[in-house]
Amino acid sequence: MRSPVRPHVTGSTGDDLASRLVTGQDGDVDFAFVSGNPALDLAGTVLSRRDEPVDLLAAPADLERWVTECDELPDRATADLATFGSALSLREALYRLALDRVLDRPFDPDSLKIVNDTAAGPVPTIKLSDAGLRLSGDLLAALSQVARSGIAVLADPHACLKECGRAGCTRIYLDRSRGARRTWCGMSECGNRVKAAAYRARRQASATAKGRVPEGTT
Ligand SMILES: [Zn+2]
Repeated sequence: MRSPVRPHVTGSTGDDLASRLVTGQDGDVDFAFVSGNPALDLAGTVLSRRDEPVDLLAAPADLERWVTECDELPDRATADLATFGSALSLREALYRLALDRVLDRPFDPDSLKIVNDTAAGPVPTIKLSDAGLRLSGDLLAALSQVARSGIAVLADPHACLKECGRAGCTRIYLDRSRGARRTWCGMSECGNRVKAAAYRARRQASATAKGRVPEGTT
């Protein structure tokens, strides 16, 4: 079952970009792995796609860090400019296909080719030890793994893909919740912010109402 068509949400709250660019102690931008699938997480490295896009993968080093931080990929991979370019093409193709899926429209043929070609490449090797499972492989293998994960979720008729409910957030995630009732890509990323903003709005409205002179007293 495909998820229902969601209207495109436009408009920004203004504080979006500043608050999204949360930096870690090392000064790097934090990546979020909340989409439930590495392909969707890769697509989510461009924030606010419809308003003022912010690309978290500005250089090959950013991609290397993203691969290292992604649990489902090899610990370490080196990116040169060519593989970095391939990664960005794959990312945009995955986003396009995920959006096609959310909007319940046919897949874009060019994006299909990029994802399928990437998935046909060598994949990481896996090794089991007392420490658990360890993946190893170069960046092309990591990208192939991402493409395969993307294909698996995009081909699954039961996978419920949604766009985050916060205005301005364009992240697409896999909703695995019971009854598919999840609204946000992540609570800390978006849900708590929307709730805090709604709370502030209610307090503001309440304060305004209290400050109003009741009718009939003047
Ligand atoms: Zn979100």
